[in-house]
Amino acid sequence: MLDIIKMLAETFHDQHKQLYMVGGTVRDDLLLRGQASDGDLATDARPDEIKRLVAPTHPTAVVLVGERFGTVRLHYDDSIIEITTFRSERYNPDSRKPEVCFGDSLEEDLARRDFTINALARDPLSDRIHDLFNGRRDLEDHILRAVGDEPDKRFGEDPLRLLRAVRFAAQLDFEIEAETRAAIVRQASTLQKISRERIRDEMNKLLLSPHPTKGLDLLVELGLMEWIIPEVLELKGVSQKATVGKSTKDIYAHVLRVVERSSARPVTRWGALLHDIAKPRTKSVEDNKIHFFGHEDVGAYMARDILKRLHFDREFIYHVSQVVKLHMRANAYTSDWTDGAVRRLMLDSGDVLPDLLDLSRADITSYRMDKVNRAAARVQELAERCQHLREEAERVPIKSPLDGNELMEMFGRGPGPWLRPLKDHLLGLVIDGELASDDKETATNIARQMMSEQS
Ligand code: ATP
Ligand code: MG
Repeated sequence: MLDIIKMLAETFHDQHKQLYMVGGTVRDDLLLRGQASDGDLATDARPDEIKRLVAPTHPTAVVLVGERFGTVRLHYDDSIIEITTFRSERYNPDSRKPEVCFGDSLEEDLARRDFTINALARDPLSDRIHDLFNGRRDLEDHILRAVGDEPDKRFGEDPLRLLRAVRFAAQLDFEIEAETRAAIVRQASTLQKISRERIRDEMNKLLLSPHPTKGLDLLVELGLMEWIIPEVLELKGVSQKATVGKSTKDIYAHVLRVVERSSARPVTRWGALLHDIAKPRTKSVEDNKIHFFGHEDVGAYMARDILKRLHFDREFIYHVSQVVKLHMRANAYTSDWTDGAVRRLMLDSGDVLPDLLDLSRADITSYRMDKVNRAAARVQELAERCQHLREEAERVPIKSPLDGNELMEMFGRGPGPWLRPLKDHLLGLVIDGELASDDKETATNIARQMMSEQS
């Protein structure tokens, strides 16, 4: 990657054009967050000039991307490099997306960037770092600070920066500097101006980061959560146990621990965040005992609603709501479950079984080690039984020995509602391990028996 960047810089230099590594590329390099994760470059050349200049370097593909095509993306064998023409600060505060204007100087380009740690540039030829806003110091001190001295204005230009601050805090485990933080609190409600898709993308990055709990806590503390998932705020102060005196963890604290304990996969993390979302709304007290009857079903609806609002795609919404809906069933697993019961859970969860098992593993936040260990062993056993049954089902598929056509032929009847109960019954027997899926003879007898009982 660095070789290609150097070669490009020489080419540009020969034509009296500037080329710098900028933004996240320089930041991650200095943080040693792996080797130059992406190659973001900035230049004073305009897009058509960029295309002309890069041609002799033989990229396999050249694509114009970005807002108003300010960015040229280059594909080389195994690296992707993006070159963007310098931009100048020009934002339309009423627009849902920032407007872009070409600029002429690196200084101008760095000044319109969001945080000091993202406003660093590096000359690939001399290796000199351009640091106009003390970004290196903030990087060393683990601080997120808005560029310039009017943070409110910066957030006003593009309110997505409110969320980016929190997302970087969660990814890098950085603290938000006091002035910047105060401005976020003041500007929180301007998040409403941002498109739901941009919010969704930031939320995904935050949830999949190494410190999702930190990010979620910040969203709540800074008043941003209200404009994203207000339902999460309901979890605060709602206790799970009726014990008086000793302060018990609220559901919010429980949920955050579950998120942190779960695997960093989108469906799992969102499932973890939303699995108990309906507990406040379903809470009831009876004989000094607290219940949350049906919270998994109400929660599945709420999850669908929340994710729809954030414009997630249908499949993702379905998957997360399935995890929420089924989480109590997975949690209720005990060794005496029949293979049929395990198979039914597998069939009902389908693609999300791994996410469901992972959530179940994470959904034990007791401080008593013996409890945690016992529960973990239970989930492990369930996972192993699922694995075993899956292998078995690969050899002998789980299906009714007689399909619809065979049943219609057998009884000399056309398609109709009479078929469904027969098929369901036969399939149920196979799931429960009481009928082999290739045992047509027994299935025929059972079907005949059922039909004769009906008439
Ligand atoms: P990552 O790619 O890990 O998400 P990044 O910092 O590279 O982090 P990008 O969205 O790729 O983020 O943006 C590249 C650079 O562009 C940033 O480092 C920052 O300098 C600038 N930038 C991106 N979005 C904004 C914004 N909304 N406002 C101001 N500057 C921005
Ligand atoms: Mg980037």
